[in-house]
Amino acid sequence: MFEKNCPKSRSIALLGSTGSIGRSTLDVVRAAQGRLPVFALSAHANIPLLREQMDEFRPRQVVVTDHSKKPGDFPDLVETAKKTGADLFFGSEALCRMVAQPEVEVIVSAIVGSAGLQSTLSALEAGKTVALANKESLVVGGELVKKAESKHGGRIIPIDSEHSAIWQCLEAGGGRREAGDMAQSSSLQSPVSRLILTASGGPFRKFSQQELERVTVSDALAHPTWEMGKKITVDSATLINKALEIIEARWFFDLSPDQISVMIHPQSVVHSMVEFVDGAVFAQLSPPDMRLPIQWAIDYPERFPGPAQRVDWSKMMTLEFFPPDFDRFPALRLGLEVATQGGTAGAVFNAANEVAVEAFFQERLPFHKITTVCQTILENHHHERCPTLERLWAADRWARSETEKWISR
Ligand code: MG
Repeated sequence: MFEKNCPKSRSIALLGSTGSIGRSTLDVVRAAQGRLPVFALSAHANIPLLREQMDEFRPRQVVVTDHSKKPGDFPDLVETAKKTGADLFFGSEALCRMVAQPEVEVIVSAIVGSAGLQSTLSALEAGKTVALANKESLVVGGELVKKAESKHGGRIIPIDSEHSAIWQCLEAGGGRREAGDMAQSSSLQSPVSRLILTASGGPFRKFSQQELERVTVSDALAHPTWEMGKKITVDSATLINKALEIIEARWFFDLSPDQISVMIHPQSVVHSMVEFVDGAVFAQLSPPDMRLPIQWAIDYPERFPGPAQRVDWSKMMTLEFFPPDFDRFPALRLGLEVATQGGTAGAVFNAANEVAVEAFFQERLPFHKITTVCQTILENHHHERCPTLERLWAADRWARSETEKWISR
């Protein structure tokens, strides 16, 4: 008889608990039946859902990140905190203190924006494991984040389905999986030839240039395979999401951008692939369901029967792969350029895109100009190679105001 190994329990701090990734994380926590206790929750504005989560998961600490708020604004929340025994804090500085608490083992970073980068850095400086869904952390601050990771012995594990797939393929194929390992060896010694990020291609995969020029907000919000937030759905339609993922992959896996390719795969079943130097290609397959990469990230390296959907092998399935059209979707080229430049380029690209997408929602910018404006702002920016955090935010502010000017022209 084999003795059954009992996977160890680890306590979670969940940043962004009321968003899509946050709610999926709590599904995984439920399925773990007490083995993944929630030490802390943070939310920005959805207080009713936060109170329900406090009732169910009994966190010891709760942070409301909205700076403009104070306890007096939420008598119901204060009441719930009292009832459930949680300490309540306000503002994003409270997040940075909370992630460094000795009780916290894994931080799930699922908040959007700059507070995400700041709290990722605080967690890594405290030597913690960060399950990372926040894009800004690596797109804007890739170099700082990787330095903090290697300096303080913390670890980042990707939640994004593509990077999670690559991590799993690297392990399965015998590639070095630990962050930094590939950079430390010369490319000749590395068994990895390249990463192939898959992209669904979004709803406009087959659109001509003329059709792309007529895309409306409601067209862009109808994603064929993944259900996601509004902004990321538009980023998937422009393929800017894939461009941001190229930049993330470059930092996560320490590869040069010319070792990163993209393939259009409309079914979203193969989440990405790794090609090894001998020609073997490893792929990770599963239905499009974020609960699997979340589970992998928070419970790494364990596997348990979690809540994610399974492939239905009783039905016929076709998997297609097409090389992407860089002319209709120039965002991909932009992603490779930004990944090559590093420095302030990621901060500028991310900020320009955020402002452009918001302007598209307000019908002040046509869909096909989102990438154009990002490209123009990147071309005009003064590139810094090794920026500090302050310089990154200065580049971010500059890009936001320049993009706004360009759009209002
Ligand atoms: Mg993704």
